[in-house]
Amino acid sequence: MSICSFLTYKELNAAKENESQDYTWHAVASWTWDAQDETCGICRMAFDGCCPDCKLPGDDCPLIWGSCNHAFHLHCILKWVNSQTSQAHCPMCRREWQFKE
Ligand SMILES: [Zn+2]
Ligand SMILES: [Zn+2]
Ligand SMILES: [Zn+2]
Repeated sequence: MSICSFLTYKELNAAKENESQDYTWHAVASWTWDAQDETCGICRMAFDGCCPDCKLPGDDCPLIWGSCNHAFHLHCILKWVNSQTSQAHCPMCRREWQFKE
């Protein structure tokens, strides 16, 4: 390998590295849900999908956080809260459920 082609090889590798770093950064940046867990604790569906009652993920099936910082699909936690006869508790940590302001 001549010095010249060695340099080119190194440059190519550096460019590849930058490319993959860029890709990682974009992948992280496009992750908009700030969820601790990637699945809903009630329906076990992924947060980047929607609850079993909805067909399309997105604004129609939003995520909601409780004061305990657990996140659920809005539809799932509403069903859960409505199914409780007394004060609802978070299905994950059993703390009193309050919607986070
Ligand atoms: Zn859910
Ligand atoms: Zn839904
Ligand atoms: Zn909780």
